[in-house]
Amino acid sequence: MQRYQTKQIHVGSVAIGGDAPISVQSMTFTKTANISATKAQIDRLTFAGCDIVRVAVSDEEDAKALQQLRAQITIPLVADIHFRYKLALAAAPFVDCIRINPGNIGSKDKIKAVVEACKDHQIPIRIGVNAGSLESQFEKKYGPTPEGMVQSALYNVKLLEDFGFTTLKVSLKASDVPRTIAAYRTLRPLVPYPFHLGVTEAGTLFDSSIKSSMALGLLLMEGIGDTMRVSITGSLEEEVQVAKSILKFSGRQQEGIYYVSCPTCGRIEADLIGSLEKIKQNLTHIKAPLHVSVMGCAVNALGEAKSADIAIAFGKGSGLIIKKGEVLCRLRGDELIARFVQEVELADKEYFENLAAGK
Ligand code: SF4
Repeated sequence: MQRYQTKQIHVGSVAIGGDAPISVQSMTFTKTANISATKAQIDRLTFAGCDIVRVAVSDEEDAKALQQLRAQITIPLVADIHFRYKLALAAAPFVDCIRINPGNIGSKDKIKAVVEACKDHQIPIRIGVNAGSLESQFEKKYGPTPEGMVQSALYNVKLLEDFGFTTLKVSLKASDVPRTIAAYRTLRPLVPYPFHLGVTEAGTLFDSSIKSSMALGLLLMEGIGDTMRVSITGSLEEEVQVAKSILKFSGRQQEGIYYVSCPTCGRIEADLIGSLEKIKQNLTHIKAPLHVSVMGCAVNALGEAKSADIAIAFGKGSGLIIKKGEVLCRLRGDELIARFVQEVELADKEYFENLAAGK
């Protein structure tokens, strides 16, 4: 399905909305005032492929650290503000975006002050609505429902528009799949701004991967979503990896390897799980959208290999490498995996050479 066309904004160097690629965000869990620890987490996220990072700004110490922190990192920085609007004013000169939770920022005057600071520094605002912390008027009338989230978002969008501010994006996060989907779907035709997708407090790696795949995957396939975060309790790199996989499997991003691997069965005569792990570890740098098939025996390998750019089929003590449906070679043990890695790297190189040559 076609992606909804939204107004494009910029968070630092990253475009969000319009036809910009759907970006991946994450958040540090250090005390932001601890600059070296926060920078170390941001470096890990950057290496994992994160596009934008958010940090909590809970007090003046955190706000003061932003200038120094921003000078040491290479991806755009977002300040996450709850309750104390003055922290947004202090953060605005040193970040690329301010995220406010309108439910806990307070009066119109306080929001206006944040808007003026963002105008002065030419940075966008994310209206980050959370089902668990709606403004009292919406909470009383609707409870923590999709309708309450949508009404809160519409109220705050209008408020910012009335202040002459339209450089914004919106998120509508709930901790479960049905409310998340319903809220984003309902709001999508009502505002032109880009959406930041996410399921909040989504849980551990296992739970969050499933919740986020269901909610974000479905929304993305419906053309909804311009930037996203997968939130996972106790994980950093995995937030980025899961988000990128959701983008890939929903067909919204083509970068990197798309793996097909068999589940194994009683015919298996090799260590497919260990071998696949080794292959993946050695191919994290591949950027071309290659279709790679990894099979435990020859039964389905040749059939699968026909639709793969490159395939490997393990057998007893040896295996086949198949490129574009043609058997390249039969090799033994570690030699097989080493050659397979080389062949995938070669296919990656060929892809970009062909792209440059306009083929
Ligand atoms: S490819 Fe071979 S090992 Fe894997 S599931 Fe199919 S028959 Fe079993």
